Amino acid sequence: MKKRLFPLAIAVLLTAACSQKKPNESVAGLNLDPAKFEKTIDGKQTGLYTLKNSNGLEVAITNYGGRIVGILAPDKEGNFEDICLGYNSLDEYFSNQEQYFGALIGRYGNRIANGKFTLDGQEYTLAQNDGPNHLHGGPKGFHAVVWDVVESSASSLKLHYLSADMEEGYPGNLDVTVTYTLNDENELKIEYSATTDKPTVVNLTNHCYFNLAGEGSGETVNNHYLTINADQFTPVNSTLIPVGENANVEGTPFDFRTPKQIGRDIEQQHEQLLFGKGYDHNFVLNKANEGEMTLAARVVEPVSGRAMEVYTSEPGVQFYGGNFMNGKNSGKAGVPYGHRMGFCLETQHFPNSPNQENFPSTRLNPGETYSTTTIYKFSAENEEAQ
Ligand code: BGC
Repeated sequence: MKKRLFPLAIAVLLTAACSQKKPNESVAGLNLDPAKFEKTIDGKQTGLYTLKNSNGLEVAITNYGGRIVGILAPDKEGNFEDICLGYNSLDEYFSNQEQYFGALIGRYGNRIANGKFTLDGQEYTLAQNDGPNHLHGGPKGFHAVVWDVVESSASSLKLHYLSADMEEGYPGNLDVTVTYTLNDENELKIEYSATTDKPTVVNLTNHCYFNLAGEGSGETVNNHYLTINADQFTPVNSTLIPVGENANVEGTPFDFRTPKQIGRDIEQQHEQLLFGKGYDHNFVLNKANEGEMTLAARVVEPVSGRAMEVYTSEPGVQFYGGNFMNGKNSGKAGVPYGHRMGFCLETQHFPNSPNQENFPSTRLNPGETYSTTTIYKFSAENEEAQ
């Protein structure tokens, strides 16, 4: 009799212990040391801020470059992993070859041809920091400056940066505010706003690299299923500047209108894939009305079931598949970030818009407010990815 009761008693005790477990108890948390993010740079203090929600998700952000350093998200069995690529200390961000991990990008995300544009008859010259072109706001773009922390709570972080007239060659004092918010619907919302005192161009984004298997998984993202809500993309020349006319994705490796593994068509000898060394292209998001919040993309990692949806008010999204990653740097878990071990979905206006009149305008005038929103929503699904 005793023998039979013993296993039963253990089972009852275990069930009781499990039912008492609060959601956060199984979560080790992002294993980051805030002290490694504390420095004085350009006379300003940097630090690490962690947002948390009631489901155990965490998002760590440093005000150096407004960077997302880590995102803790559960898989279909409730196992949490850090799915955002990054480093354990600011020093590693300075010394590593990849400059944009998790960063806020500005004034102009993506490329401007030959580092030149003209506004009201005046030509402006920017750094040519990507072959002949200007990329991501220049060497000291918004990814490499210290943002002021305006407000910080357990669920949100409000950052501010005043970019001086002619900083990195751009006209006008640009007053920028970016707010990160994590809610209990597992949405990480990024709200961007800016005003200027002279006509200028603005195109702000975030450059988070994701791997939904975990940043330390050592796996490429080629097995991830990607859907992009775009019938068209902006084909580029060999220096990745759009040629100016949109192309239909239908019948090309750029057709992600239904879920497709990132790696399925990636080795095709398609000219656009050869130029990008893989996917490094802007998609023209399907929208009924300019500026409306719509689903831009959805990504599912089939083994863990982790899924991410991207919603944005922006007209485009750059899908970059980590083609230039080369394994020389290791991330937070000490695992080298090899070729295509991360992907970015950078919501944005189209590349080189200041030089393309037919693209939606990136001009901002005094008296106007630049305002865009992007949401990354995390979930996990049980069934095979679809
Ligand atoms: C660009 C890539 C570039 C990468 C750098 C992306 O936004 O499109 O060409 O290599 O940023 O992180």
